[in-house]
Amino acid sequence: MSDTVTEPTFAPTIAPTIAPAETPAESPSRPVSDDGDHDRYSHYARKDDVTRAYVTGEAIVALCGKKWVPTRDPKNYPVCPTCKERKEAGWRI
Ligand SMILES: [Zn+2]
Repeated sequence: MSDTVTEPTFAPTIAPTIAPAETPAESPSRPVSDDGDHDRYSHYARKDDVTRAYVTGEAIVALCGKKWVPTRDPKNYPVCPTCKERKEAGWRI
């Protein structure tokens, strides 16, 4: 009974930010984050890890390797393509 990878867990971290139209596309003062796009997806992760993350607020590692903090309201996001691909390929986290 150690298989805990069966259930897909949808857990994005941050809602997409919509900038006003008059805002320039590039701002030199804006900090660059390389994982911004990942946060718009829901990821697969171990159910045990997700449950713990809900309680502790700790970041966990998704099937795609993304480290993020899951939330309870993931349905508004598409499934992470990498997670989906790997799950269908039989990956286990
Ligand atoms: Zn993912």
